[in-house]
Amino acid sequence: HAKSSGRNCSVIFRSGMNDMLERRRQLEADLSDALEQGQFELFLQPRVDAATAAISGYEALLRWHHPERGMVSPADFIPVAEASGQIIPLGEWVLEQACRLLDRIDGHISVNVSPLQFRHPEFLPKLRALLARTGVQPGRIELEITESVLIDDDQRAVLVLNELKGLGFSIALDDFGTGYSSLSYLNRYPFDTIKIDRSFVNNLGQAENAPVIVRTIISLGTGLGMKIVAEGVETIEEALFLAQAGCDELQGYLLGRPKPVADLQREVSAALAVQLVNMPRYPSAA
Ligand code: C2E
Ligand code: MG
Ligand code: MG
Ligand code: MG
Repeated sequence: HAKSSGRNCSVIFRSGMNDMLERRRQLEADLSDALEQGQFELFLQPRVDAATAAISGYEALLRWHHPERGMVSPADFIPVAEASGQIIPLGEWVLEQACRLLDRIDGHISVNVSPLQFRHPEFLPKLRALLARTGVQPGRIELEITESVLIDDDQRAVLVLNELKGLGFSIALDDFGTGYSSLSYLNRYPFDTIKIDRSFVNNLGQAENAPVIVRTIISLGTGLGMKIVAEGVETIEEALFLAQAGCDELQGYLLGRPKPVADLQREVSAALAVQLVNMPRYPSAA
């Protein structure tokens, strides 16, 4: 019995693998002309100052309007584009688009940069050309990278990050806490901002250790002179805890969903703003 069910499992597993590979191949094929077909759009999600409830800027999040599948999630197509190299032209399009959107919003735009894009020899030259062409202030653009960018070629990563800082960009470390040697990275790289991964934020009400971990990240980052942003804030309890703990900015569905620029909300709800503004703050709250 065990043997036959084992065999069934492997058949199911194999056909599952084939489905997955087939889906990836199909996505890759569809991606190849999605850019010229105009199927991409940049949505913006607000980032809110935890002390004033004012919107400080927006994160640009890529959306693919697939002609047959409808909206495909970046969690599905970014890894495919990264594996195939299609992320290079796509990433350039995102940066160009983000620069154009700056005219239509106040504050900054944060742009996700994938590891392959960051390591590409043309990344810096293309960025310089983009600045020259569009005339935007690099100080209004924050580049979000993840720890995976830093693992492979540490020396070169330091050079590129310093070069980006020299051009005037802000640098954020995205998904903080989900990678490997987070603490040594904080010491070695010139980050302006740390984004606490949403897994920690969503655990605040559930896991006993989560509040301690979040407070520690905030005090560590703040002590190093970095701005602390919390991702994935969905509840008022999470927002108030984070504000009280000294987190600088909040991002998440509670504050606003990612939307096309034309549909953006310009402020958070008045009721939420009142609670945030009146929240006592660490260390005075301690
Ligand atoms: P990320 O950079 O960590 O972006 C945050 C993700 O969390 C976004 O998912 C956002 O829609 C989602 N999110 C925001 N608030 C909440 C919340 O309150 N609850 C929950 N459950 N989720 C929330 P999205 O837009 O699906 O993007 C997923 C990932 O895809 C991004 O994670 C980023 O790594 C990547 N990505 C998106 N756009 C781009 C892009 O233009 N270039 C690159 N290289 N990667 C991108
Ligand atoms: Mg991000
Ligand atoms: Mg993130
Ligand atoms: Mg993420």
